[in-house]
Amino acid sequence: MAARKLDIETYNKKRDFSKTREPRGRKLKGKGDSFVVQKHDASRLHWDFRLELDGVLKSWAVPKGPSLDPDEKRLAMRTEDHPLDYGDFEGTIPAGEYGGGTVMLWDQGRWIPDPRKDPSKTIEEGHLHFTLEGERMKGEWVLFRLNPRPGEKGEPWMLKKVTDDFADAGDGDALVDNCVTSVTTGRTMAEIASGEDVWHSDKAAGHKTGRSKKAAGKAPPPFMAPQLATLVDDVPPGAAWIHELKYDGYR
Ligand code: MN
Repeated sequence: MAARKLDIETYNKKRDFSKTREPRGRKLKGKGDSFVVQKHDASRLHWDFRLELDGVLKSWAVPKGPSLDPDEKRLAMRTEDHPLDYGDFEGTIPAGEYGGGTVMLWDQGRWIPDPRKDPSKTIEEGHLHFTLEGERMKGEWVLFRLNPRPGEKGEPWMLKKVTDDFADAGDGDALVDNCVTSVTTGRTMAEIASGEDVWHSDKAAGHKTGRSKKAAGKAPPPFMAPQLATLVDDVPPGAAWIHELKYDGYR
């Protein structure tokens, strides 16, 4: 199969920066270890799961969101690497823009790759094993790539909880059903949707909880749509979903 490039160059190629006010995609130096999950109510609700690696946010769109039940494997469509700036975004993408809808910072924290493996290498091989120190996602998780079906667009992966003290057999959708507010502003999706913007500071907008710590002190970008002009960010119905029913096991 022809490999689909999902790197930061792809992000840039899809955009005309004389027309869009989105940030130019770039890789940053350094060894950050942040992760973020953005609940994105676009044409199809999904949770964008992003891990900082090699100066970008490696990204997957998870239609059903994560589950604490190790028996619940959740489809995660790989999306293009995103610039680190996207990790602070919460707000509304205007109707009519691609991916228009509401974005909530649903979880954030630190991720620790399996110390026995080089994640930059294993992600290319199609698997990542890591520990999350988020507010909602904690403990060990795995991501593993499936073999796309012939003609299938996109790169299907699975996100799965590993059995440990943070796992909860039978959790089902409880994690996403119970956690319905922003981890940085405490707002619901409806409250975010009715807000004018998100890049206000605590004092300027009178918000009690304000922006994420990571964003504090940085000049707000004029507009940051955490969205991709791609077929897979809004997970399409179709062949990829078959995997969710048939895949049994992981590498
Ligand atoms: Mn999205």
